[in-house]
Amino acid sequence: MGSSPNITLHDKAFRPYLSAAELAAAVEALAGRLSADYAGRRPLFVVVLTGGFMFASDLLKRFSGDCEIVFIRVASYEGTSSTGQVQEILGLREDVQGRDLILVEDIVDTGTTLHHLLPTLLAKNPASMEIAALFFKPASLRHELTLNYVALEIPNDFVVGYGLDYDGLGRNLPEVYVAA
Ligand code: 5GP
Ligand code: MG
Ligand code: MG
Repeated sequence: MGSSPNITLHDKAFRPYLSAAELAAAVEALAGRLSADYAGRRPLFVVVLTGGFMFASDLLKRFSGDCEIVFIRVASYEGTSSTGQVQEILGLREDVQGRDLILVEDIVDTGTTLHHLLPTLLAKNPASMEIAALFFKPASLRHELTLNYVALEIPNDFVVGYGLDYDGLGRNLPEVYVAA
């Protein structure tokens, strides 16, 4: 992507990394796989805000078949020493028992967020649960996670744009940038 110029967010320079066309192709391919795998099953997509909003919008436009969509936020705080980090799920009012859940995430980096979130969701007894992630950084992963639906694997670099922020900025960018 040589055509777009570098940008600055706050104090930091970023260079173009993935074009809108490259993102669209990866998202479309993932939507096709999900559409085939969930044909006739009416999954419940659980979109994790805020970073997942743009990815979810493009992914779900391309999902064919019946589905339902909800949005959640995750608040983390330190629990007791036995429970460690606790993830509270905000906004999930639907009964997920017996449902085929697909968690829509912006990026899996160390995997810590999902490592704590998945048990909370699994305790609600869904029929199945998968993760659809826009980005996955395999070199950073520190927990055991099964990721069957990843749009793009990327190196261990900090990226912004297409929903992802650097200290609040950059979420609106239609392309993805990497620290220059
Ligand atoms: P994890 O818990 O897997 O280490 O990290 C997940 C969260 O860290 C993401 O939802 C995101 O908020 C943040 N994160 C990890 N890597 C990046 C990155 O390259 N860029 C941005 N903008 N956020 C990231
Ligand atoms: Mg996230
Ligand atoms: Mg962020």
